[in-house]
Amino acid sequence: MSLLRVEDLSVTFDVRGRGDWPWTPARKLQAVRALSFEVAEGETLGVVGESGSGKSTLARAIVGTVPATGGKILWDGSDLAALGPAQRRKHRKSVQMIFQDPLAALNPRMTVGEIIAEPLRTHHPDTAKPDMRRKVGEMMERVGLLPNLVNRYPHEFSGGQCQRIGIARALILGPKLVLCDEPVSALDVSVQAQVVNLLQALKRDMGLSLIFIAHDLSVVKHISDRIAVMYLGTLLEIGAADQVCRAPRHPYTKALISAVPVPDPAVEKARRPAVLEGELPSPMAPPSGCVFRTRCPVALARCADQIPALRWMDGAHAHACPVVAAEAQHPA
Ligand code: SF4
Repeated sequence: MSLLRVEDLSVTFDVRGRGDWPWTPARKLQAVRALSFEVAEGETLGVVGESGSGKSTLARAIVGTVPATGGKILWDGSDLAALGPAQRRKHRKSVQMIFQDPLAALNPRMTVGEIIAEPLRTHHPDTAKPDMRRKVGEMMERVGLLPNLVNRYPHEFSGGQCQRIGIARALILGPKLVLCDEPVSALDVSVQAQVVNLLQALKRDMGLSLIFIAHDLSVVKHISDRIAVMYLGTLLEIGAADQVCRAPRHPYTKALISAVPVPDPAVEKARRPAVLEGELPSPMAPPSGCVFRTRCPVALARCADQIPALRWMDGAHAHACPVVAAEAQHPA
């Protein structure tokens, strides 16, 4: 059963330049465009794409800190926009977020115990102090922190330990879905694997669903059941992690996978990775038709005319490239 269902979701911001007059109309920045997908109970959906592809805006819309300007977000079957105050509070408890920069995400004036207990104090203010201390201690142990460090401050911890504090804080209310927004990209490579393994273990033990956002496909591949590939706010490919990584269909996914280094030095040396030329276009002036066409190595003139829709190949794997789809049907 799907826990989260996103239907045709769009998020647009009004942007004003520093030199704009007050009467100058704001320009539109469409960060997320007509995105649809589901997350099942106990599933990890990896979301990949370059910086600026709208991944973090998507996460914030699901948590409810950024308003959707189109489409729907259905949580446990209910439309988020139509929730009353009590249901909204319940949703806030059930959906938590882990941030990219662990130290910046923690209040430097609060002790680790206060930071982890804060969501409990907000949502369950009647919790007795001994219960609160016990829950914080248990959560610290669960994420691999010694409970006797409860009175220390964030600056006394390493980056990996700070991320463990952030994870403990996100999980103390027993959420159903955790949005991990680039949770390991600010960490050393050796620590990244520890944090990813910890998240996997917690997901299994606590029956969580995860949305794991990253620009590094090798990390996403390791933790995800399914992978969604985003570009300029658009979903270009989605499918089982193994299928997307082994047999990518969209030219953008192919380029991302080609950029992942192979651990075998001999194979890596002989490889000719497909290099993606150019920069991500501005979301305020996206290309017409296929948003990827200005960087696509196999673009045709007609790619400028129509926005391609996601096409399902077998009910579980979809991509948004009609040119590749036509080639698969009529190989040269
Ligand atoms: S629709 Fe055209 S531009 Fe877009 S990915 Fe396919 S071939 Fe490339």
